[in-house]
Amino acid sequence: MTTKRGFTTTLLHSDRLGKPEHGSLHKPIHTSVTYGHEDVQDLVDIFQNKKKGYAYSRQGNPTVTALEHKVTNMEKGVSSVAFSTGMAAISATVMALVKHTDHIVASSFLFGNTRSIFQTYIDMGLDITFVDATDVKNVRNEIKENTKLVFVETIANPATQIADLEAIGDLCQQKGIIYMVDNTMTSPYLFNPINVKAGLVINSLTKYIGGHGNALGGSVTDTGLFNWEVFPNIFPSFKGQVKPEALGMTQVRKKGLRDAGGTLSPEAAHSISVGSETLALRLDRACSNALALAKYFESHPKIKKVFYPGLESHPQHDRAAKLFSKFGGLMSIEVDESIDIFAFLNKLQLVVKSSNLGDTRTLAIPVAHTIFFELGADKRAEMGIPESMIRLSVGIEDLDDLIEDFKAALV
Ligand SMILES: *Cc1c(COP(=O)(O)O)cnc(C)c1O
Repeated sequence: MTTKRGFTTTLLHSDRLGKPEHGSLHKPIHTSVTYGHEDVQDLVDIFQNKKKGYAYSRQGNPTVTALEHKVTNMEKGVSSVAFSTGMAAISATVMALVKHTDHIVASSFLFGNTRSIFQTYIDMGLDITFVDATDVKNVRNEIKENTKLVFVETIANPATQIADLEAIGDLCQQKGIIYMVDNTMTSPYLFNPINVKAGLVINSLTKYIGGHGNALGGSVTDTGLFNWEVFPNIFPSFKGQVKPEALGMTQVRKKGLRDAGGTLSPEAAHSISVGSETLALRLDRACSNALALAKYFESHPKIKKVFYPGLESHPQHDRAAKLFSKFGGLMSIEVDESIDIFAFLNKLQLVVKSSNLGDTRTLAIPVAHTIFFELGADKRAEMGIPESMIRLSVGIEDLDDLIEDFKAALV
């Protein structure tokens, strides 16, 4: 296909254009664990990275490959590796690329489990510095000789801070540091981190891309911008086996996916792939619902604060407007002291009291008591998370029904 087609058109037809058997419109679910080869040379070549193909499903499966192509396409990258969850993608990618003598700069405003695995890596001897990444100055101040990676999220969860994405990209390019951006909250429909010079892009496929809350998955995409040829941590035997531009992802697939084993199942890959077809439609609706709800909450006397990048009162509103095509489906609110947050949440009839985000249904969760409980009050304060914060993942319900539900719970 030579013509450049739109986001949804490309997604909808990508499996079919890969010519799966019988003219199937979806890539079939291949459940075989292992693959047999007529000529043993083929098997050897696959092991030695000389040939593409399948040997053992922990490190590659045709159904998963089809999803990886979709993610690569959506992110305008060169290749992707899928994992069993977003956390598997993050933890394995960092583990595969960084050594204990290296240094990482990460945003202080991170998904709770990402913060937690980074703490585990610190406990194992890795040097990681957390900074307020909404200003590139804070990142620049912490860069050292051995800094190998900078890690940020697009819209941080739950307080919706937006990293200084463009300036950090320039800084990483200038210093030759891997710039890893977690795009989960925006998804490739609202934003492509390649536009701010990210070298690696993380997506939790569990969230907006899968979209229906029925399958877990994660991915890392190589945008092709980072020069792996000069990266000192590449495992020596990969050099010469694969093209220089493929060194990074070969290492992620072998040292990250194959060795750590966070493999995406073909069944989950299929669910996510089907879900991804409606990413644009779902997110258009979730974003317009979220913006309308944010405005409703902002004018409500019992809501103290609304955290949503689409509001002009948001500290990085202009940055979000410039970089993202819409403002996302995630927001947080702080209710007035006169309201008991548990009683408020229990009054909601439609909105589900639940973790997760990016579901088609609207979900609400008290942040300090659940997803950020383990961190303790001090770290929560450092991350800008008030004790009475409620996070909302806005779904695709009819807006009037959502407003009605919140209105009834706020009396
Ligand atoms: C959910 C999430 C993850 C982890 O994804 P899982 O698929 O749940 O493991 C990582 N980063 C962000 C920003 C997330 O929201």
